[in-house]
Amino acid sequence: TDLSKIRNFSIVAHIDHGKSTLADRLIQETGTVKERDMQAQLLDTMDIERERGITIKANTVRIDYTADDGETYVLNLIDTPGHVDFAYEVSRSMRAVEGSLLVVDSSQGVEAQTLANVYHAIEADHEIVPVLNKIDLPASEPDRVAEQIEDVIGIDATGAILVSAKTGEGIHETLEAIVNELPAPKGERDAPLKAMLVDSWYDAYLGVIVLVRIIDGVLKKGDRIRMMHTNAVYPVDRIGVFRPQMEPIDELGPGEIGFLTASIKQVRDTRVGDTITHEKKGCAEALDGFKPAQPVVFCGLFPVDNAEFEDLREAISKLSLNDASFSSEMETSAALGFGFRCGFLGLLHLEVIRDRLEREYNIDLITTAPSVIYHVYLRDGSMMELHNPADMPDMSLVDHLEEPRIKATILVPDEYLGDVLKLCQDRRGIQIDLTYAGSRAMVVYDLPLNEVVFDFYDRLKSVTKGYASFDYTIEDYREDRLVKMSILVNEEPVDALSTMVHQDRAEARGRAMVEKLKDLIPRHMFKIPIQAAIGGRVIARETLSAMRKDVTAKCYGGDATRKKKLLEKQKKGKKKMRQFGKVEIPQSAFISALKMD
Ligand code: GDP
Ligand code: MG
Repeated sequence: TDLSKIRNFSIVAHIDHGKSTLADRLIQETGTVKERDMQAQLLDTMDIERERGITIKANTVRIDYTADDGETYVLNLIDTPGHVDFAYEVSRSMRAVEGSLLVVDSSQGVEAQTLANVYHAIEADHEIVPVLNKIDLPASEPDRVAEQIEDVIGIDATGAILVSAKTGEGIHETLEAIVNELPAPKGERDAPLKAMLVDSWYDAYLGVIVLVRIIDGVLKKGDRIRMMHTNAVYPVDRIGVFRPQMEPIDELGPGEIGFLTASIKQVRDTRVGDTITHEKKGCAEALDGFKPAQPVVFCGLFPVDNAEFEDLREAISKLSLNDASFSSEMETSAALGFGFRCGFLGLLHLEVIRDRLEREYNIDLITTAPSVIYHVYLRDGSMMELHNPADMPDMSLVDHLEEPRIKATILVPDEYLGDVLKLCQDRRGIQIDLTYAGSRAMVVYDLPLNEVVFDFYDRLKSVTKGYASFDYTIEDYREDRLVKMSILVNEEPVDALSTMVHQDRAEARGRAMVEKLKDLIPRHMFKIPIQAAIGGRVIARETLSAMRKDVTAKCYGGDATRKKKLLEKQKKGKKKMRQFGKVEIPQSAFISALKMD
């Protein structure tokens, strides 16, 4: 395709502002998909994405559009993930295109993820077209929101397009703006092949599918390609484009976006951001800025029922095939038996994987406290990365600890500002900035990631009735007074409940945890002490009193079927319990105990 007739773009938006609906409209308007084949929100493929209304994997579509000037253009849309956990993927896919539609809900205004995502677009030197969506809503205030875009983001919004992705209003204007305002890609057909690996995923029929953007040169079926980062060579067996279903094509030239398959065994062999070239006469230099995505949050996943360990192993290895950013290694816990220590890009990523294991693979799981990676500096001068509080060395060997800190940006209506400041303060936050954009405050906080990974986002949503939006970037590692807190149930340490806490907060946190556990653990036939301890020192203690009667006692001498039913019911309830010494702890306790009110 003639370079001047190509436009590559992405859509940046806060969640729920209408990115997927707009993408679907663009596809529909150009006749790329017949009306009857339109499923609600074509581009969100996975069930969990659809249910939660978020886009996780980047998707892409090629649209042919005959513009008002009579020319036919090829528009390539890359749909980027819309969540902070996937910031690296967002920034990479932005580098594969020249422009962005900045979609803002005109009844809501700019939100934290609008900012985070538009900054990726600005960094990638995009031409940006502002789109004010949902103008059909009575609460829509396009003028105010356009002004806000200028004030907060600092880009010209006078030409913003007024759109309703719901009714279709402004869709034609949006297509014209893509053609007229976004630049055509540049590239040289005669140069050695240089292509960016934008994304990759596992397909049950075709194996690993690699989404590429050709910078220079031409890619053809049968070519032998080299991944410049891994140095692996593969023969290309298919190339094609997405419309949005896969369609084979003869070649991909400069400026084009499409896919290849090459008998690549696992997604792990394809690194987002890597440069693809020909095995022979390849390009001299790879694209810059490559870095593999690193997991930042770790937790243990254990089957409630030990017999399901093999199932869990298989499920995890299947999920890993499709997700290179998720790491796992086997772990044994004295209390929980065999399981896996898994690493994730963030909390949402963790939840998505855990949900899929439970729902698609039908495995009941115990999730241990999420933990960040601490840097433990030992007295002998060495440093260890601590992924699991259970591996914390004895304090006598430790010189000091460092923890990751983040820069969090929160946008919130005025009236909730006080609650947000208090929440951040409670989580050891340091305020960096506080500004106003209309009636909304924008606060920037420096926070320990550790204080955010658990339930910060839930708390933020609840204190602001859902009106706050939040985004973060990881900044650096800093020293602080951190200790490992252990939980003992019936005098036995339950390693899965160990957490790293700040010294000044240890007592309060410990007390809260033992009080919670007292409510969460059912009574037994004997008294159960529940303790929080640092090293050998108990800092909080509760006692769960003994149960008076057997549950079946009231059936004695009575109805035998009723008794049987009760016992069966009890057995079913037990499925979600784990035995710790003589004590049974329900699965739900592991997460609930950690939530702070
Ligand atoms: P995304 O999270 O940015 O992909 O947002 P979606 O496209 O999933 O849209 C979020 C919600 O807003 C859905 O319920 C859509 O039906 C709705 N929506 C999207 N565009 C419009 C619009 O122009 N007008 C109205 N009234 N609702 C819209
Ligand atoms: Mg969406």
